[in-house]
Amino acid sequence: MAGEPRADCLFCKIVAGEVPADVVRETGTTVAFRDINPQAPTHVLVIPKAHYPDAASLAAAEPTLAADVLREAGEVAAEDKVDDTGYRVVFNTGTGAGQTVFHAHAHVLGGRGLNWPPG
Ligand code: AMP
Ligand code: ZN
Repeated sequence: MAGEPRADCLFCKIVAGEVPADVVRETGTTVAFRDINPQAPTHVLVIPKAHYPDAASLAAAEPTLAADVLREAGEVAAEDKVDDTGYRVVFNTGTGAGQTVFHAHAHVLGGRGLNWPPG
């Protein structure tokens, strides 16, 4: 069923506490944790606790949950004090765009110069 945990999903395992993570924020519907391979001084992943394979399917099925993820991205940026200097929120979607974990997640990147357009 849509949104149900998947046994083969790494981020569902982080939600369940079966895989450790450096959690920085948790709400009733979301978890935010530091990326294991950070690409910037602030590199945090914000995920919905429910399983959706990407941001678009999350937003289509549960728009308020998608909004929770976006709001938490902003809270993470504020807590890491990168909101004043600027930060980027990225949803890689599809293997061609670099998506490797098919559980929707926002990358929150900041604390260094961020080129535009991104690579
Ligand atoms: P993406 O490539 O957009 O699907 O993003 C997946 C991200 O998850 C990558 O930036 C990985 O470094 C990160 N990642 C993979 N495994 C873990 C883990 N156990 N804890 C934290 N981040 C992870
Ligand atoms: Zn999942």
